Amino acid sequence: MLLTRTIAETRAVIADARTQGKRIGFVPTMGYLHEGHLKLIDIAKGHSDFVVVSIFVNPTQFSPTEDFAKYPRDFERDRRLCESRGTDLIFAPEVSEIYPERSLITLQIEKLADRLCGMRRPGHFNGVLLVVSKLFNIVQPNVAVFGQKDAQQLTIIKRFVQDLNFPVRIIAAPTVRESDGLAMSSRNIYLSPEQRAQSTVLYQALQRAKTLIEAGQRDAQKIVLEMQQLIATASEAKIDYIEIVSVSDLQPVKRLDGERQVLIALAVYFGRARLIDNIVLKIS
Ligand code: AMP
Repeated sequence: MLLTRTIAETRAVIADARTQGKRIGFVPTMGYLHEGHLKLIDIAKGHSDFVVVSIFVNPTQFSPTEDFAKYPRDFERDRRLCESRGTDLIFAPEVSEIYPERSLITLQIEKLADRLCGMRRPGHFNGVLLVVSKLFNIVQPNVAVFGQKDAQQLTIIKRFVQDLNFPVRIIAAPTVRESDGLAMSSRNIYLSPEQRAQSTVLYQALQRAKTLIEAGQRDAQKIVLEMQQLIATASEAKIDYIEIVSVSDLQPVKRLDGERQVLIALAVYFGRARLIDNIVLKIS
């Protein structure tokens, strides 16, 4: 497995792989890897011949009050995990390599960033798109894999690639969970044992919504109310949002009757950890 720190080295290594006729698969991450990330690597391997994993905590997607400085980092562990899953190249640049100076270009997203995490984290998705476009231009992958866990990010990136004609196929990877249902996240490390025990309410609330919908409930407000009540049983939980939106444009849904598929998404604070999760449900 190769490791590069600069854009020039990365381009040279990947150009070499490409001249050998290899298709490039790409998994962008912020490191502190877990089984969810490793699944993305497996999927990338299944769709390409040379897998590049980037490890870069991107400052432009954090607001000044968020956890950029405290975001967990353990490069040696990440390196071992990447190697164990057959990664070909880790690209782990310094911030100064990606942002030698402040970018004067910003990418604005209409509509898709108005709700859910975009509404609570202004500028977050602009920062995500800035770094993803830089990384796509450096790696020039044939395919790139993103997790369904960050459903809004996935929707925005798919649309971004389509709108700006990036020659990259975006592949969605299902959410990997702990055995009790908690979606794996680098931020789960912030949870105290008590908060970790209570955090299973997120998945339970999503499952409750599924059960209600399967039983015929079509009123979004009623479903959200039941989810709120369930999450309120966890004393340390503070709900940021629970929303039911249309999968295609992320706009809120009042009644589910007219929809083919809905995204049920939530964000809940446990102490300083802000956890997100979601499910996509077909409406029959
Ligand atoms: P992050 O390092 O948190 O920026 O995540 C990097 C990529 O891994 C993103 O595409 C995430 O959606 C994906 N990811 C994070 N957690 C999970 C998970 N539990 N299951 C599947 N994909 C995940």
